Amino acid sequence: MPALQIVWFKRDLRMHDHRPLHQAAERGPVLPLYVIEPELWQQPDCSERQWLFCRESLVDLRQALAALGQPLVVRRGDVVEVFERARSQFELEAIWSHEETGNDWTFRRDKRVAAWARRHGIAWFELPQFGVIRRLQSRNGWARRWETQMAEPVVMSPPGLPALVRVDPGLIPERPCEELASDPCPQRQPGGRSMALLELGDFLENRAARYSGSISSPNTAFSGCSRLSAYLAWGCVSMREVIQSSRRHSGRGVSSFESRLHWHCHFIQKLEDQPAIEFSDFHPFMRGIRELNSSRLEAWAQGWTGVPFVDACMRALNAHGWINFRMRAMLMSFASYHLWLPWRDSGLHLARQFVDYEPGIHWSQCQMQSGSTSINTIRIYNPIKQGMDHDADGVFIRRWCPELADLPTAHIHEPWRHIADHPEPIVNCAEAARLAKDRIWAIRRSAGFDQHADAIQKRHGSRKAGLQPTVSKRRRKPAAQKSGVQQLSLEL
Ligand SMILES: Cc1cc2nc3c(=O)[nH]c(=O)nc-3n(C[C@H](O)[C@H](O)[C@H](O)COP(=O)(O)OP(=O)(O)OC[C@H]3O[C@@H](n4cnc5c(N)ncnc54)[C@H](O)[C@@H]3O)c2cc1C
Repeated sequence: MPALQIVWFKRDLRMHDHRPLHQAAERGPVLPLYVIEPELWQQPDCSERQWLFCRESLVDLRQALAALGQPLVVRRGDVVEVFERARSQFELEAIWSHEETGNDWTFRRDKRVAAWARRHGIAWFELPQFGVIRRLQSRNGWARRWETQMAEPVVMSPPGLPALVRVDPGLIPERPCEELASDPCPQRQPGGRSMALLELGDFLENRAARYSGSISSPNTAFSGCSRLSAYLAWGCVSMREVIQSSRRHSGRGVSSFESRLHWHCHFIQKLEDQPAIEFSDFHPFMRGIRELNSSRLEAWAQGWTGVPFVDACMRALNAHGWINFRMRAMLMSFASYHLWLPWRDSGLHLARQFVDYEPGIHWSQCQMQSGSTSINTIRIYNPIKQGMDHDADGVFIRRWCPELADLPTAHIHEPWRHIADHPEPIVNCAEAARLAKDRIWAIRRSAGFDQHADAIQKRHGSRKAGLQPTVSKRRRKPAAQKSGVQQLSLEL
């Protein structure tokens, strides 16, 4: 048999527009491989709901590859040991995969794989997965390069894959490892490319026109948003496919949808450029300013803070594995400002809850909603106002907080203010927000803050809106706020 090409699937569970598969198949017989890594699934940002989505996507991919002639081969264990076993059985020419901008664990694992491949003279070809650029020198021109990549033709799946003799495809187990905690998520989206294509088609045909008007309220967002994030995070569809399908539609709503697809890669680029932001604040002056408070963290994570809209959003997220952007931002802001919790701890809870967990977007957003990036306006979401604006009649609150179901609408957003003996929330929202704002502004005004912020802007800031790389004055406290007038931009 000629030397084998291993196509190593990670978070790219499709065969359409899969350049590594396409190019490997042109070179020779392919071993399409997914390795279930028990140690990965024991990392604190992984959860059973993510695994189940991944599992469904693996089943789907196995069927699709089998139709080409060679089903997906699944093995469990350390990936270097799996490659080593393959090397003892076959002559290996190359490993093909997409570049992964993952968590610290996958980063270190990839370094081990690279060292192993070098040691044995086996080439490892890693091709870009999204519009993220590895070893990027400067953010200037990034958006243009992203556009060029997205405009490249989608590659077809190979016409056929020669079947490998005496290679057992292996079982896709129910669980990746014993240690993974059970994590019921009754309303989770199902995984797999077939489901991804249904969601994409339905969004573009039927929902895109009302996209902009329905993304803010959790009453409309579950059906109004594209709901493609998990399919993009697990690679069931490629970013290029989504962009190109969307452009073929060119109906109402698609331009704001497309700008978000651009953000997807913009945020992942930050983690690609600076992997430390998974653990460490962008701005050095923000490091270590918050303390862990386990009982506050637990109340927030379980949806028992006593603030009805916050609790309803968290419980909905826990049951669906998804919630819309505005509500994610509000939950994070509440944890970081009102509860003054370190973003890494609250961010880990959210990461596990999100079926669409994407480290690059997630950690950048967690920091942004906690004021740690220093290049964005501070946004302290007022959770009472958010509830009044986006769930005026309390429909969402009543659905997710049945203990409040009988309250009249006039009382539902702040029941403790209207009903004698109703428990107070775990913090006084107005006071906690004021204190947090003062603390953050005190740091922002301190000597030397702007120099670091300018460097962060230069390295990570978007140039798309025509911003100059360094704009210190955007970080200064607005005049109206100095005179005590509440700033809408600060209290969203
Ligand atoms: C604290 C916090 C954590 C987040 N963590 C994640 C995460 O782990 N994974 C993730 O995919 N998104 C994350 N987001 C971004 C955003 O909330 C989700 O992408 C979006 O809600 C997914 O729903 P959708 O697919 O229906 O999005 P749509 O509104 O339909 O947008 C289409 C696509 O654009 C991308 N996108 C949308 N909004 C953003 C954004 N603000 N930043 C970057 N990309 C965006 C996503 O890929 C999304 O699927 C996070 C946001 C916050 C505030």
